[in-house]
Amino acid sequence: MSDPAPAIVPDLSARLAPPIDDDTRPLWTGGARGELLIQRCGRCRRWAHPPVAGPCRACGGGLVPEPASGRGTVFSYTVNHHPFNPAIPVPYVVAIVELAEQEGLRFFTNLVNCDPAGVRIGMAVRVLFEDHGDWSVPVFEPDAG
Ligand code: ZN
Repeated sequence: MSDPAPAIVPDLSARLAPPIDDDTRPLWTGGARGELLIQRCGRCRRWAHPPVAGPCRACGGGLVPEPASGRGTVFSYTVNHHPFNPAIPVPYVVAIVELAEQEGLRFFTNLVNCDPAGVRIGMAVRVLFEDHGDWSVPVFEPDAG
Protein backbone atom coordinates (compact mmCIF):
# COMPACT_ATOMS: atom_id res chain seq x y z
CA MET A 1 0.00 0.00 0.00
CA SER A 2 1.08 3.62 0.19
CA ASP A 3 3.88 4.85 2.37
CA PRO A 4 2.98 7.16 5.23
CA ALA A 5 3.09 10.86 4.42
CA PRO A 6 6.57 12.31 4.98
CA ALA A 7 7.05 14.48 8.02
CA ILE A 8 6.72 18.07 6.93
CA VAL A 9 9.13 20.29 8.79
CA PRO A 10 9.16 23.70 7.19
CA ASP A 11 12.00 26.11 7.77
CA LEU A 12 10.00 28.82 9.51
CA SER A 13 12.62 31.44 8.70
CA ALA A 14 11.51 31.08 5.09
CA ARG A 15 8.18 32.74 5.88
CA LEU A 16 8.19 36.33 4.66
CA ALA A 17 7.29 38.93 7.27
CA PRO A 18 3.83 40.37 6.69
CA PRO A 19 3.36 44.08 6.14
CA ILE A 20 2.49 45.33 9.61
CA ASP A 21 0.75 48.64 10.18
CA ASP A 22 -1.62 50.03 12.78
CA ASP A 23 -4.57 48.18 11.25
CA THR A 24 -2.90 44.79 10.78
CA ARG A 25 -0.68 44.75 13.91
CA PRO A 26 -3.27 43.03 16.14
CA LEU A 27 -3.66 40.21 13.62
CA TRP A 28 0.10 39.58 13.38
CA THR A 29 0.94 40.00 17.05
CA GLY A 30 -2.08 38.55 18.91
CA GLY A 31 -0.73 35.04 18.47
CA ALA A 32 1.90 35.73 21.14
CA ARG A 33 -1.00 35.63 23.62
CA GLY A 34 -2.79 32.87 21.76
CA GLU A 35 -5.38 35.29 20.42
CA LEU A 36 -6.74 35.45 16.90
CA LEU A 37 -7.60 39.16 16.82
CA ILE A 38 -10.16 40.07 14.18
CA GLN A 39 -11.67 43.50 13.65
CA ARG A 40 -15.21 43.83 14.97
CA CYS A 41 -17.68 46.68 14.78
CA GLY A 42 -18.46 48.26 18.13
CA ARG A 43 -21.94 49.26 16.93
CA CYS A 44 -23.44 46.47 14.78
CA ARG A 45 -21.04 43.78 16.11
CA ARG A 46 -20.19 42.48 12.64
CA TRP A 47 -16.71 41.01 12.19
CA ALA A 48 -14.52 42.28 9.36
CA HIS A 49 -11.52 40.61 7.75
CA PRO A 50 -8.96 41.26 6.32
CA PRO A 51 -8.20 44.25 8.53
CA VAL A 52 -8.91 47.62 6.97
CA ALA A 53 -8.52 51.23 7.95
CA GLY A 54 -11.70 53.16 8.49
CA PRO A 55 -15.19 52.40 9.67
CA CYS A 56 -17.43 49.33 9.43
CA ARG A 57 -18.71 48.93 5.89
CA ALA A 58 -22.10 47.77 7.16
CA CYS A 59 -22.96 50.63 9.52
CA GLY A 60 -20.08 53.09 9.74
CA GLY A 61 -19.27 52.17 13.34
CA GLY A 62 -15.73 51.90 14.62
CA LEU A 63 -13.77 48.66 14.16
CA VAL A 64 -11.85 47.29 17.13
CA PRO A 65 -9.82 44.05 17.25
CA GLU A 66 -11.44 41.32 19.34
CA PRO A 67 -10.37 37.74 19.98
CA ALA A 68 -12.22 35.28 17.76
CA SER A 69 -12.70 31.65 18.77
CA GLY A 70 -10.16 30.38 16.28
CA ARG A 71 -12.63 27.72 15.15
CA GLY A 72 -13.86 27.37 11.62
CA THR A 73 -14.31 25.15 8.60
CA VAL A 74 -12.42 24.74 5.34
CA PHE A 75 -14.25 26.85 2.75
CA SER A 76 -11.82 26.11 -0.09
CA TYR A 77 -8.27 24.85 -0.47
CA THR A 78 -5.56 23.82 -2.85
CA VAL A 79 -2.58 21.52 -2.38
CA ASN A 80 0.63 22.99 -3.72
CA HIS A 81 3.14 20.48 -5.11
CA HIS A 82 5.54 22.91 -6.75
CA PRO A 83 8.63 23.94 -4.70
CA PHE A 84 8.39 27.68 -5.28
CA ASN A 85 10.64 28.13 -2.25
CA PRO A 86 13.12 25.27 -1.63
CA ALA A 87 12.98 25.91 2.14
CA ILE A 88 9.29 25.06 2.23
CA PRO A 89 8.68 21.35 1.71
CA VAL A 90 5.87 20.31 -0.59
CA PRO A 91 3.12 19.38 -0.65
CA TYR A 92 1.47 22.00 1.52
CA VAL A 93 -2.08 23.25 1.80
CA VAL A 94 -3.24 26.78 1.06
CA ALA A 95 -6.76 27.28 2.32
CA ILE A 96 -9.58 29.68 2.90
CA VAL A 97 -11.12 29.02 6.30
CA GLU A 98 -14.56 30.37 7.16
CA LEU A 99 -14.44 31.41 10.79
CA ALA A 100 -17.21 30.17 13.05
CA GLU A 101 -18.15 33.70 14.17
CA GLN A 102 -19.97 34.78 11.04
CA GLU A 103 -21.04 33.50 7.63
CA GLY A 104 -18.68 34.82 4.99
CA LEU A 105 -15.92 35.72 7.47
CA ARG A 106 -13.08 34.06 5.59
CA PHE A 107 -9.42 33.76 6.39
CA PHE A 108 -6.62 33.03 3.88
CA THR A 109 -4.15 30.65 5.54
CA ASN A 110 -2.22 27.39 5.52
CA LEU A 111 -3.43 24.08 6.93
CA VAL A 112 -0.83 22.23 9.00
CA ASN A 113 -0.54 19.03 11.03
CA CYS A 114 -2.55 17.09 8.48
CA ASP A 115 -2.11 14.90 5.43
CA PRO A 116 -2.82 17.17 2.45
CA ALA A 117 -4.63 14.28 0.76
CA GLY A 118 -7.05 14.12 3.68
CA VAL A 119 -8.24 17.73 3.56
CA ARG A 120 -11.92 18.20 2.72
CA ILE A 121 -14.18 21.20 2.22
CA GLY A 122 -16.25 21.66 5.35
CA MET A 123 -13.61 20.05 7.59
CA ALA A 124 -13.51 21.52 11.10
CA VAL A 125 -10.27 23.35 11.89
CA ARG A 126 -8.82 25.43 14.69
CA VAL A 127 -6.15 28.08 14.79
CA LEU A 128 -2.61 27.77 16.04
CA PHE A 129 0.19 30.26 15.67
CA GLU A 130 3.52 30.03 13.90
CA ASP A 131 5.88 32.02 16.10
CA HIS A 132 8.36 34.33 14.39
CA GLY A 133 9.43 36.40 17.37
CA ASP A 134 7.96 39.88 16.88
CA TRP A 135 5.07 38.50 14.84
CA SER A 136 3.22 35.26 14.32
CA VAL A 137 1.17 33.73 11.55
CA PRO A 138 -2.24 32.22 12.25
CA VAL A 139 -2.46 28.79 10.60
CA PHE A 140 -5.04 26.07 11.07
CA GLU A 141 -5.07 22.37 11.89
CA PRO A 142 -7.81 19.74 11.97
CA ASP A 143 -10.12 20.19 14.96
CA ALA A 144 -11.02 16.83 16.39
CA GLY A 145 -13.66 18.57 18.49
ZN1 ZN B 1 -21.02 47.98 11.98
